[in-house]
Amino acid sequence: MTQSVTISEVGPRDGLQSVDRVMATAAKKAWIKAEAEAGVGEIEVGSFVPSKLLPQMADTAEIVAFAKTIANLDVVALVPNLKGAERAIAEGVDKMSIPFSMSETHSINNVRKDHSAMIAEIKAIADLVAKQPEASRPHFEVGLSTAFGCTMEGPVADDQIVRLAEAAMNAGVAEVGLSDTTGYANPAQVSRLVRKVKRAIGDDKLNTLHLHNTRGLGLANVVAGLEEGITTFDASLGGLGGCPFAPGASGNIVTEDLVFMLEAMGISTGIDLDKLLKVRDIVAEALPGEPLYGFTPDAGLPLGFQKVAA
Ligand code: ZN
Repeated sequence: MTQSVTISEVGPRDGLQSVDRVMATAAKKAWIKAEAEAGVGEIEVGSFVPSKLLPQMADTAEIVAFAKTIANLDVVALVPNLKGAERAIAEGVDKMSIPFSMSETHSINNVRKDHSAMIAEIKAIADLVAKQPEASRPHFEVGLSTAFGCTMEGPVADDQIVRLAEAAMNAGVAEVGLSDTTGYANPAQVSRLVRKVKRAIGDDKLNTLHLHNTRGLGLANVVAGLEEGITTFDASLGGLGGCPFAPGASGNIVTEDLVFMLEAMGISTGIDLDKLLKVRDIVAEALPGEPLYGFTPDAGLPLGFQKVAA
């Protein structure tokens, strides 16, 4: 199993887009800065969607520009289409990710594009990325969303996911990740699907899992991913955003609990858990009354707990 893992904080994007209120730009900056100072090396800071659709993300350009001034931080943005990718590149993101729904029904409902239209969009973005000067060329990743099941279609066949992962790679992306958008995944399914996709596109072309904790299996799914060689996990501070379909359940897996588990297992995250736990205050103050989740923040660290020496 891997000795070190990258945790990609997605709270400022996935968390905040699920919260109706708009977090003040200054609070977002304070959050991102404090998390980077706690040792988080990669943060998805926003989404280049039209602000009419998601007013929570209207300040993404300003947030990216700010985050770029922080040392040792990879700044990630979500892009829904070519237009968003053009904006992300103009702002100088280090990495951009486009969600590609494995359920065609979900894709058509969500972004009004079927699978072949999505592949064409992904190829247009990959071509644009390839044209950028090497020094400023962002890493372009496709997130295979609803990969573990869809609220509209139910199960999505493994073969379909493998085929679409291959199509995305052929369109010119750097790598793909698997996203459990709906919180349907279980550890056996994670092992099986990671293995199949890696076998099809190459061991080093699938490194990231985006997991939700809707049914309480988030961390179990992380362990399954670790055993298959996954090295990057998305997570959200305080599991911000919750799940509209499962009251009491966090949204993304909780960053604090993920860091605790990995460090306790002897896997280095580079993150100072004491400092990370204090970042919750910034989010709590900016969004009063918004539920924040996590077992480690409630229980505290075990006596004698030590992080892995980096
Ligand atoms: Zn998500």
